[in-house]
Amino acid sequence: MALGLEDNTDENMEGALIARDRVGVQDFVLLDSHTSETAFLNNLRKRYQENLIYTYIGTLLVSVNPYKELDIYTVTQMQLYRGVNFFELPPHLYAIADNAYRVMCSEYNNHFILISGESGAGKTEASKKILQYYAVTCPTTEQLQIVRDRLLLSNPVLEAFGNAKTLRNDNSSRFGKYMDIQFDFKGAPVGGHILSYLIEKSRVVHQNHGERNFHIFYQLLEGGDKDLLCWLGLERNPQKYAYLIQGRCAKVFSINDKNDWKIVRKAFSIIDFTEKDIEHLFGIVASVLHLGNIQFEEDSNGHAIIRDGTQIKWISKVSLLRYPLNVDLAFYARDAVAKAIYGRTFTWLVNKINGSLANKDSTRKTVIGLLDIYGFEVLDTNSFEQFCINYCNEKLQQLLIEMTLKAEQEEYELEGIEWEPIPYFNNKIICDLVEQKHKGIISILDEECLRPGEATDLSFLEKLEEKVGDHAHFVTRKLADQKTRKSIDWVDFRLLHYAGEVTYCAVGFLEKNNDLLYRNLKEVLCNSKNGIIRECFLLSELDNRRRPETVATQFKNSLMSLIEILMSKEPSYVRCIKPNENKEPGKFDDYLIRHQVKYLGLMEHLRVRRAGFAYRRKYELFLQRYKSLCPATWPHWHGPAAEGVERLIKHIGYKPEEYKLGRTKIFIRFPKTLFATEDAFEF
Ligand code: ATP
Ligand code: MG
Repeated sequence: MALGLEDNTDENMEGALIARDRVGVQDFVLLDSHTSETAFLNNLRKRYQENLIYTYIGTLLVSVNPYKELDIYTVTQMQLYRGVNFFELPPHLYAIADNAYRVMCSEYNNHFILISGESGAGKTEASKKILQYYAVTCPTTEQLQIVRDRLLLSNPVLEAFGNAKTLRNDNSSRFGKYMDIQFDFKGAPVGGHILSYLIEKSRVVHQNHGERNFHIFYQLLEGGDKDLLCWLGLERNPQKYAYLIQGRCAKVFSINDKNDWKIVRKAFSIIDFTEKDIEHLFGIVASVLHLGNIQFEEDSNGHAIIRDGTQIKWISKVSLLRYPLNVDLAFYARDAVAKAIYGRTFTWLVNKINGSLANKDSTRKTVIGLLDIYGFEVLDTNSFEQFCINYCNEKLQQLLIEMTLKAEQEEYELEGIEWEPIPYFNNKIICDLVEQKHKGIISILDEECLRPGEATDLSFLEKLEEKVGDHAHFVTRKLADQKTRKSIDWVDFRLLHYAGEVTYCAVGFLEKNNDLLYRNLKEVLCNSKNGIIRECFLLSELDNRRRPETVATQFKNSLMSLIEILMSKEPSYVRCIKPNENKEPGKFDDYLIRHQVKYLGLMEHLRVRRAGFAYRRKYELFLQRYKSLCPATWPHWHGPAAEGVERLIKHIGYKPEEYKLGRTKIFIRFPKTLFATEDAFEF
């Protein structure tokens, strides 16, 4: 083993112990004290201080954001990990990526890599690095290079339109993303498909102090050439646009909008966008900025009139509307249009990219899915968006529990393997609180949305108190002091999430969940001159008989189908940890990290891993793969597979503590046992 600290021969022991003192162990399973959170933290800190940001718990990878460039992502490093057994090199994203890839190729099955952690923990960076790894190391042909480039370049485009600077992260993903990379039977990437989840479109019209709108607006103003801006009627200065100045930080030190613009422009041409598409797309981006600058005043009839017609000239390149509204409603309608066109354009963009990534030939492909979704978020004021984001994180935590802690322990029981159950917190109770039919928060919200004119955000709050007020993870205004000792405002409710408590302000929940657009506005948009807008707003929507699903219900359903997609695949996990709140390199904030270690369930995971088995396979598959290692099973074994496996492992000399035989599977405790078998098999 190249750098394996598991190598316990005498001559290596001393060196290993010294190294271990300095850099810790590379797999938490090897810690002497595997039950102590402090020992866990010490190990993570030691490694972090040596720039070793990755550590395993068995096959799960823990990653701590270094907040600085490390030289561990070079092509040489990639090649080092290519085709090498999991534990033979220091822990790395590449090892996770390579392992999934190798199993996919040899067993011809589908995989996913779930990357989780809170906002700013490094999920998006990790997913990009994994994609790069496949782009560089997988076999390809000249013909397939274009697919590879499109897969890579879809990222800057989606980030430009879907990421923004927040207080927690200068490049925060404001949408969820699941991307399948499709491979042919030779293991070459031949296509891809992206699913996107709920973009935070409220950001288009409002940003908190210290935050920005989506990157694309600033990129266009900074980088767009003079003729383009002139054609769009835009000035270069972001301060001129009401939708860009609320956060008071148009310029961000860590972001180079001009450079990013160039990358995005180049990406468009590679991802098959026509000049017309691009023209329409930037027409929309510009219209949003112009919309934000429209001001209304009251005429003698109490109707809103536009104060200055110059903006309209530019917007009417997209569409124009006359309709009597009062001033407040006019502002409301203006913002609603801006949000709707941006949100739908984003969906259009994802579809367009999917068109260019689609692989048209019908041969069977296997996939590796990368899941990078907005992380758990607690802001000073948490709204409907945070409610959805945090619910999504609950679902992913639930999936992880189901597929690891729960499934693993149930499997031992099912297979008749002796097992001392390890307790863990199951957050299903919180998922139920949010999503249960009729009784959950989303259902209650939807019911209120069905009472237009009568229901308000406050009546929603009252219903919540009435229906889920006594739930252990819900804190009402009445019980606030008793449950968490902190009182809450009269418009708030509080949820005790698996990752901590979050107070939500109910204001705006009904409106955001309904997400309605005035019919007349929709009509105008359906007839827009802009091709993208016309594709986004279909005339069929004007049919009043169909009530569209609410935003929360749509989101809930899309998460359910995502979970279904994932459950059918083999999982790998990357758990990202945010080391401090200041985006500072080298700073390891014990308190913050301990909290994440706790709520990510890493200790429980470690306990299960430590007591459990690293590898398991059905007898038939195991025998099929390794039967050539034993004369009794080669070339044919006619008896029961379990017996064949028993003969096989006796012949290759497995020690009793290395394995257990279950009802249908063999369980192998240490990876090194399997690797030795694998090596013997290769010779
Ligand atoms: P969000 O949920 O807000 O989208 P995230 O988990 O996706 O957050 P990232 O955008 O991946 O967070 O990371 C935040 C920042 O941390 C990056 O912009 C980068 O500066 C830094 N960072 C993350 N991972 C690494 C890494 N492996 N090496 C260097 N810097 C990193
Ligand atoms: Mg992200």
